[in-house]
Amino acid sequence: MKVIVMGAGVVGTATAWYLSQAGHEVTVLERNSGAARETSFGNGGQISVSHAEPWANPSAPLKLLKWLGREDAPLLFRLRADPDQWRWGWKFLLECPTKRSMHNMKQLLNLGTYSRASLQQLRQETGIDYDQLSKGILHYYTSKKEFDLALEPARVMRELGCERQVIDPDRVVELEPAMASIKQRLAGATYTSADESGDVHKFTTALADKAQAAGVRFRYGVRIQKLRTEGNALVGVEVASETGMYEVAKADAYVLAAGSFSPLLAKEIGIKLDIYPAKGYSATLPVLDAAKAPSVSLTDDEYKLVFSRFGDRLRIAGTAELNGYGLALNPVRCEAIVRRTLEVFPGMSRPELASYWAGLRPATPGNVPYIGKSKVQGLYLNTGHGTLGWTHGCGSGRALSELISGRRPDVDFQFCGIGDKRADAMWS
Ligand SMILES: Cc1cc2nc3c(=O)[nH]c(=O)nc-3n(C[C@H](O)[C@H](O)[C@H](O)COP(=O)(O)OP(=O)(O)OC[C@H]3O[C@@H](n4cnc5c(N)ncnc54)[C@H](O)[C@@H]3O)c2cc1C
Repeated sequence: MKVIVMGAGVVGTATAWYLSQAGHEVTVLERNSGAARETSFGNGGQISVSHAEPWANPSAPLKLLKWLGREDAPLLFRLRADPDQWRWGWKFLLECPTKRSMHNMKQLLNLGTYSRASLQQLRQETGIDYDQLSKGILHYYTSKKEFDLALEPARVMRELGCERQVIDPDRVVELEPAMASIKQRLAGATYTSADESGDVHKFTTALADKAQAAGVRFRYGVRIQKLRTEGNALVGVEVASETGMYEVAKADAYVLAAGSFSPLLAKEIGIKLDIYPAKGYSATLPVLDAAKAPSVSLTDDEYKLVFSRFGDRLRIAGTAELNGYGLALNPVRCEAIVRRTLEVFPGMSRPELASYWAGLRPATPGNVPYIGKSKVQGLYLNTGHGTLGWTHGCGSGRALSELISGRRPDVDFQFCGIGDKRADAMWS
């Protein structure tokens, strides 16, 4: 079958890879001059099945109120005259009660476990190197209240098969000696040894090269303008081609994997996707003193920051700002990231050496992505991966390739369009 994949982020590229491995003839359309140039460029680097608790959880509404208007808040809603933002905010609140939050957590955890295994298998088969480390992920808490709040989700995750163990400060320092400087301030921690980290941009560009060698056609510099339907079927994608010429690209099936821009393309053909861009920042610091920088990937739950070591670089990422599609860097938020990093790891680098980046997480209210059939014939969705697109990228690509090939993926997840009422309601 001929398949067009729209978008060459980690999700689109993984989808193209698995589709081509399944024997399909794949073309990828991407407006940038290479793969992974937007949200899949500079993220936090975590393959974190243990990060399955969605933003929308029972403690979120109060926290959001507390953070409103605070420039260095980990999650900041900047209210705009934007009906999409208000609708998304309302749906976010509906996902906060315990029952919904636990349901979403289970979805994310199942997809995460399947995806991490898919990534490990892909790595073995292809030999791709992306500064990966398999040293686990350590969540640490400097607030007793935050630590106590984390115990129940961690227990549920263990019940669901994610070995997120509660550990004490001595064990934290044993696992990651660079944490010694804040040992006295630790309220507690959890550790998931099976989780990993790595550079998503390195991975995606290397996978795109492998896919190209395997026959996938990557058309860079092609801007998708509109999806063209006839009746209830998708019959083509209207693009401005590499030379700027108008063209209609055609295939038997189409995959929408355009990250935060997916809802804009889908809306024109009557598909409402609850995806809103959640801007996040990262800082990358050169490691000047290796003994003072962590190599175990870390999550600072109180400040909502993640740390991943890529060779002689340390990537720190976090914060979320719901404020439309702008990518401007806010110096207050950037400085807050580096300040916290050097407070926890004094002497590992210097603030003036930081390079900053911002990206738009394609966030759904419950953080569960849309994967599967859309209501328009021939159009499949692989989008809305929010905070976990790197963790879920390989599994989502593999699962969608299975669905397009007529098979049920081996993961307990509510795929769109195959009879699950709740998933169907998400997009119809
Ligand atoms: C600060 C930050 C930290 C994060 N940390 C982590 C982490 O530690 N672990 C984790 O799992 N996830 C993390 N994420 C989330 C993860 O980065 C995203 O979920 C993931 O990159 C989304 O991938 P994607 O392929 O869906 O979107 P993208 O990477 O944005 O790809 C979509 C592609 O579609 C293309 N496109 C869009 N519209 C058009 C058009 N009209 N024509 C042609 N091409 C188009 C874009 O150019 C882009 O290349 C983080 C995100 C941020 C912002």
